[in-house]
Amino acid sequence: MISEVPEAKIKEAEAKETATPGEAKASEEKLIEIKGLKKYFLTKRGIFAREMKWVHAVDDVNFYIRKGEVFGLVGESGCGKTTVGKLILGLIRPTAGEIYFDGHNLTEYNVEELRKLRKRAGIIYQHPQSSLNPRMTVHTTLSRPMEIHKIAEGGKKEEIILRVLGEVGLKPQHLDRYPHEFSGGQQQRIAIGRVLVLNPEFVVLDEPTSALDVSVQAHILNLLNELQSKFDLTYLLISHDLGIIDHMSDRIGVMYVGKMVELADKEELRKNALHPYTRLLFAVVPIVDPEQTRKGVVLKGEVPSAINPPPGCRFHPRCPYAKPICKTEPKFEDVGGGHYVACHLWRTISKESSR
Ligand code: SF4
Repeated sequence: MISEVPEAKIKEAEAKETATPGEAKASEEKLIEIKGLKKYFLTKRGIFAREMKWVHAVDDVNFYIRKGEVFGLVGESGCGKTTVGKLILGLIRPTAGEIYFDGHNLTEYNVEELRKLRKRAGIIYQHPQSSLNPRMTVHTTLSRPMEIHKIAEGGKKEEIILRVLGEVGLKPQHLDRYPHEFSGGQQQRIAIGRVLVLNPEFVVLDEPTSALDVSVQAHILNLLNELQSKFDLTYLLISHDLGIIDHMSDRIGVMYVGKMVELADKEELRKNALHPYTRLLFAVVPIVDPEQTRKGVVLKGEVPSAINPPPGCRFHPRCPYAKPICKTEPKFEDVGGGHYVACHLWRTISKESSR
């Protein structure tokens, strides 16, 4: 049976065209909920690659994403944020924990049910060039997902392709061209269009601009902002760049070596970051408000390996506030107003910053 949902949603979006991009308010309803999520990978180590070790890529992560919000996930490369995105989309299976999508536990889904989920949830990758098939024209790239998921065919399909093409800022004359004929920014527009034709509710944006020229990054971010507002999309935005996360997100989660160490509304995190790692990240982001000051910390040492993470607080070997208690694991606790932090000494840090 052919679904007409994309058409309906595009029409609904057209009716809202007068809304200011980015004005859409997130509802209180949860679209995604993650409970005790873990993902461990086995990897070979040693000179002859004979030693098998577990990589603790994601280790007991809990959070939710409201319908219509942009949830930003930030952290250094290898902290597990991309793995979280892939787990939510069912692209990899968790070692433990639960993932709820609109109230349904995805960890209980079989392959066919996960395939159907991909109609409702898509992903934009960091490198558009490698995410697009070089042998497919733009037209094939946009029509293939609709054919696979039986979204539309014939004239209806062509109508959706043309509309989506316009939404992402491309023209009908681009339809017969191949990915190599486009700039990086245009390739990312094609990749966005490929997700949009499926009429998704949820999109994972995995470093969507980090492979692009600085001059086009803002255009792609603005486009993603506009589409989110226009199509009521819910985003999980993954980036190592807190500037981008801060610009786009409603709430922000900070990850460090497989753990969520802090989570709060954007404004709250800007003004009152409690975890030393978050404070360091904000310390290197330019401050827009001259009334605000930030007391950052100087980060020393290397990011520890997720193969053999430090016991207790994983940040303790680098933390300037570390005390003996930090060799025990801090709880990820709600300090009020939906602000969560995993730090034994957050009260001390909070008092220091208010002096
Ligand atoms: Fe630093 Fe200790 Fe807090 Fe970890 S628990 S961030 S080591 S003060």
